[in-house]
Amino acid sequence: MSVPGRPAQQAPADIDEVMELVRHEGGRASTARRVILEALVAAGGHRTAEELAADIHSGHPEIHQTTVYRNLERFEDLGVAYHTHLGHGPAQWHLTGSRHQHLVCQYCGAVIEADPDILAGLETTLHDRSGFELDLRHFAITGTCQSCASEAREHPISDPSVPA
Ligand SMILES: [Zn+2]
Ligand SMILES: [Zn+2]
Ligand SMILES: [Zn+2]
Repeated sequence: MSVPGRPAQQAPADIDEVMELVRHEGGRASTARRVILEALVAAGGHRTAEELAADIHSGHPEIHQTTVYRNLERFEDLGVAYHTHLGHGPAQWHLTGSRHQHLVCQYCGAVIEADPDILAGLETTLHDRSGFELDLRHFAITGTCQSCASEAREHPISDPSVPA
């Protein structure tokens, strides 16, 4: 859940800045919050809320899964983290600082991170023509990766869902 109308903000660079933002927005900069942020940073990429809770639980058994879930949502409201859906599974969490568009191959499941500026033209055109504002970050764009595409060209009758 994001706050409607909140302007795109500069992502905080480190945990101290994020904690400062949390305090500034009236949140309590609790140990649990810092630990969750550290886990997000340590994960370095995509992590489900459940995986993060498990990461945290090993070092901090006092931090419960519900605390992790609740704080992830709070971070999203504050614009410091966001969730994205790469496929049918649970949402993946990110720090806002790692800004990229997710491309997912529907054959091999590869996740490719693309520069979101590539889609700026589409965003502008759509907005100009229909007033629709794209939120491409929330869901991945699906397609066929380069290697699956060339595989399909070389073996046109093979079903890519069946492993060779
Ligand atoms: Zn990502
Ligand atoms: Zn969602
Ligand atoms: Zn592929």
